[in-house]
Amino acid sequence: EFLYIELRRTTMAFEEITKPSVSDMKETPNLIDYQSTREDFDWYRDGFSGLDWLPDGGLNNAYEAVDRHVNNGKGKQKALIWIGKNGDEETYTYSQFKEESDKFGQVMKNLGMQRADRVFIFMDRIPELYFAAMGILKAGGVIAPLFSAFGPDPVRDRMEDAGASFLVTTPELKSKIDTMLPDIKTLQKVIVIDKSDSANIKTDEKTLLYKDLMKNVDATNFILEPTTQYDFSIMHYTSGSTGKPKGVLHRHQAVVQQWLTGKWALDLKEGDIYFCTADPGWVTGTSYGMMAPWTNCVTQIIYEGGFSAASWYEIIQKYGVTVWYTAPTAIRLLMRAGEAVVQRYDLSSLRFIGSVGEPLNPEAVVWGNKNYKMPIHDNWWQTETGAIMCANYATTNIRPGSMGKPFPGVTMGILDDQYNELGAGESGILAVRPGWPSQMFAYWQQDEMYNSRFKKGWYITGDQASIDEDGYFWFQGRADDVINTAGHLVGPFEVESALIEHKAVAEAGVIGKPDPIAMEVVKAFVTLNPDYEATDQLRRELIGFARDKLSAGVAPREIDFIDVMPKTRSGKIMRRLLKARELGLPEGDTSTLEDDG
Ligand code: AMP
Repeated sequence: EFLYIELRRTTMAFEEITKPSVSDMKETPNLIDYQSTREDFDWYRDGFSGLDWLPDGGLNNAYEAVDRHVNNGKGKQKALIWIGKNGDEETYTYSQFKEESDKFGQVMKNLGMQRADRVFIFMDRIPELYFAAMGILKAGGVIAPLFSAFGPDPVRDRMEDAGASFLVTTPELKSKIDTMLPDIKTLQKVIVIDKSDSANIKTDEKTLLYKDLMKNVDATNFILEPTTQYDFSIMHYTSGSTGKPKGVLHRHQAVVQQWLTGKWALDLKEGDIYFCTADPGWVTGTSYGMMAPWTNCVTQIIYEGGFSAASWYEIIQKYGVTVWYTAPTAIRLLMRAGEAVVQRYDLSSLRFIGSVGEPLNPEAVVWGNKNYKMPIHDNWWQTETGAIMCANYATTNIRPGSMGKPFPGVTMGILDDQYNELGAGESGILAVRPGWPSQMFAYWQQDEMYNSRFKKGWYITGDQASIDEDGYFWFQGRADDVINTAGHLVGPFEVESALIEHKAVAEAGVIGKPDPIAMEVVKAFVTLNPDYEATDQLRRELIGFARDKLSAGVAPREIDFIDVMPKTRSGKIMRRLLKARELGLPEGDTSTLEDDG
C-alpha cells in the first residue's frame, strides 16, 4: 500500500485545459478527432500500410527511417543536426545518412555479423552512434544501446547475458570497461569511434578503428538484409524487483507503431524540427530518438550535452524547434530555473510538447501552459510496450495529472488482484490487451518471466493506475520495488549486489526515497561485517564504490547503517518495510510482507 501513497491522486487538483477547435489552431494536427479515429481504427489500414515495406514484402525499421525517404525523392532534406557538447555542429541529409549507414552495414557484414547477432553500442550521442545503429539494423543485426554513464558492472552483466558479438564504443568509454571485456567470451570485435582523433588506440585483431573501417569499405553494392517484420531489431535492458535486468527484445514490426504514434501522439510532420532529450541507452531514445522521428521524415536535433535550461531554450530558439519530447524531471528542473529564464528566449516555434518516463505532476502541466503557452502532453508507455500506449493528444482536452487516453488500436484496463476488470474510479493493476504491433517479443532467454506478465488475456504492466468516468487514465505508482529516478528504472537488486561486493558490507537493502525533482532517489540500508565501524568516511567510501561500479545515477545517493536487516523467513530483504520506516509510515502487518512472489 504505502509504496503508492506519495503518488496517489484521488481528485482532480486542477481545472481541465480545453483545446481550441481545430479551425482555430495554428496548424491542423495529424489526429483531428481522437474519438472517431479510435472507433474506426484498423492497424492494417492505418498502421501497417502506411510504411513502404521492402520489395519482397519484408520490413526493416532502418529502411523505413532512412532509405525510403531517399527513394521517395527526399534525400536532400535534413535528417539530423548534431550539436556537440562544445558547440560543434554537424548536419546530415537523409542521403548522407543513408550513405553512412550503408557503409557501416557493409562494415558489419564484412566483419561477419550474422542476422540477429547482438551488437552493443556504448557511447555518447554523436552522429556516428546513429550511423552505426542504422547500419547494424540494415545489415540484420540487433542493436543493444547502453547508457554511457554506466560503469563496468552493468555493461558486463548485460553483454554477458545477451551473448554480445560486437561492441561499438569510444576511446574514453572503452577505457572505463577495458578490464572486464575479456569476460565477454562471445565478443568478436570492438569497434572504436575516435571522433576527435585524439586518442592513441592500440588496434589488434579484436580492436578496430571505425574511421579505418569506414575509409576502406566499398558500400556501392551494399545489400540491405531482407528482414521480415518478425526479425529481431532492438534490445533494451530493463530492471525488475528481483534478479538482474532483463533484455527486452523487439522486432522490426515495432516500427509500425513507432511511426504512427510519432504522427498522432507527438503530431510529427515532415519538415518538423524535433528535439527529443532522451538518450538511446533507454527506450525513449530509440523509439522516439530514432524510429518515430525519422520514419516521419523530420529533422532531428541531437544534443550531446546533458540538461541545462539555458542550452535547451537556446536550441529551441536557434533551430526553431517545433516538437519537443522530454521528461518530468527535466520539466521540474526547468520550473526550478524559473519563469524569468523562459522569458529571455523566443520559443514561439514550438507547436507541441510531450513528456514521458515518470508521473508528470499536474503543477508542471499548468506551469507549461502558462510559460510555453501550451500544456505539456504526458504520455505513458514502457520498454516492453515499445511505443506510446496512452497519451494526451494535440486535440484532446487535458486533465492535469492524467496520462490521457489509450492510443487508437490499444485497449487498456484496470484489474483487481484476480485480474478481473474494474470500473471507473477504482484503483488497480494497469493492464493492456496483447497484440499491439510494438509489443516486446521476449525477455531474452527468460521465458518464464515473460509468460508471467500475461494473465487472463491481459499483459500486466507492473504499474498501478485508475481510470475516470471519461476514460482518462491516472498513474498511481509501481506495483513492485523498482525505483524510478529521473525517469530511469533502477532495480534494487542490481544496487544491492554491487554494495555487498564491498568487504565492509554484510547485507544491503535498497529503496527509492521520494524526491521533489527526480521523483525518487536511490537509498541503501546496509549492515556491516564484524570489525567494521559505521562512520561517515565508510559511508562516503561505499557511495564512491557503488558509483565506480554502476554509475552516479544508479548508485545510492544516501546510505544508512542498520544493525539488523529486516527479512522474510526465507531470507528475502523486506524493502517495503525499509521504505515504510524511511517514510515514517506504519510498518503494518509484516506477515503480509513476507511474500516471496
Ligand atoms: P521504462 O521501461 O524504463 O521506459 O519505464 C517504464 C515505467 O516508467 C512505467 O512502467 C512507469 O512506471 C513509468 N512511466 C513511464 N511513463 C510514465 C508516465 N507518463 N506517468 C507515470 N509513470 C510513467
